[in-house]
Amino acid sequence: MGLPTKENNYYPPAELNLVNFRLYGKCRDPKIDNAIFFPKKTDSNEKYQADVRAAKAVCRECVVIDLCGEAGTIGKEDGIWGGLTKEERRQLGRITKINRR
Ligand code: SF4
Repeated sequence: MGLPTKENNYYPPAELNLVNFRLYGKCRDPKIDNAIFFPKKTDSNEKYQADVRAAKAVCRECVVIDLCGEAGTIGKEDGIWGGLTKEERRQLGRITKINRR
């Protein structure tokens, strides 16, 4: 059957949480180079941008993108989580805090 995808209309079970969602991440596909999810600012800007674009393309097809983005925002993790860079998640966190005031 392979990994769950939006194309094969597979959706993960409802009991997913901020820890176990990773089991359903499209980035677990062994054909995908996981390095793209951790683009390095020390790489050339072209390579950095190419890795970010490639990672975001994978995330857009991932069935747990929302949970992953939430987990990445809470944990302040490095890399691409939920289709967002660390800077984008930081911005989103600021906006959410402002809206809560
Ligand atoms: S949203 Fe992206 S980083 Fe998160 S689990 Fe899915 S593919 Fe992996």
